[in-house]
Amino acid sequence: MGKKQSKLDGTELRDLLESTYFDRREIQQWYRDFMRDCPSGILRKEEFQTIYQQFFPNGDPSKFASFVFNVFDANKDGYISFKEFICALSITSRGSLDEKLDWAFSLYDLDNDGYITKEEMVNIVDAIYSMVGNLLDLPKDEDTPQKRVEKIFSQMDTNHDGRLTKDEFREGSKCDPWIVEALSTPHH
Ligand code: CA
Ligand code: CA
Repeated sequence: MGKKQSKLDGTELRDLLESTYFDRREIQQWYRDFMRDCPSGILRKEEFQTIYQQFFPNGDPSKFASFVFNVFDANKDGYISFKEFICALSITSRGSLDEKLDWAFSLYDLDNDGYITKEEMVNIVDAIYSMVGNLLDLPKDEDTPQKRVEKIFSQMDTNHDGRLTKDEFREGSKCDPWIVEALSTPHH
C-alpha cells in the first residue's frame, strides 16, 4: 500500500498474464489507469460508487455498486487491489458464459451459502432498478423487484423449493440473459 509505481514488476505481470484474458500491453495500460485514479493502489467502495454514478447519472447506483464491489473484493479486506480489479474485469468482459454466470451467481448469493433466495435476488434487482431509474419501461408484471423476482423464480426454480442452486441459475440465465447482462454494463 502507498507505493507509487507506473509499471507492474515482472512477477506480478506474469501472474496476471496467466490469470486473465488480457495481454501484456492491456494489463500495463489498465495498471497505469488504475494507479492514476487510485495512486494508493487500492480502490475504495466510495470511489467505486462514484465510477458507477458517472455511468448512471439518472439513477442511484450506490447500492448496486456496493454489491458489485463485494464480488470484486475477492479477499474481503474492504478494498479492491489492482489484481482483484483486473481479474474481475477479465471475467466480466472476456470470460466464457459459464465464468460470467459463476461470477453473477456470487453477486446474487449475498450470504455465500451456495443458494440464491428470493430475498437475495430482490435485493439485487431492487438495486438494478434504482440504478437504471427512469430509463426502464417495464411491463406491468415486472414493474417492481418483487414481481420481477417471482417471474424469474417461476422460470428458474425448477424444483420449487424457493431458492436457486448454481445449476438452476446457470440453466435459467441462458434463457433470461438480462440477469447477467445487467451486471457488465459499466465496463463497456
Ligand atoms: Ca481486497
Ligand atoms: Ca444465499
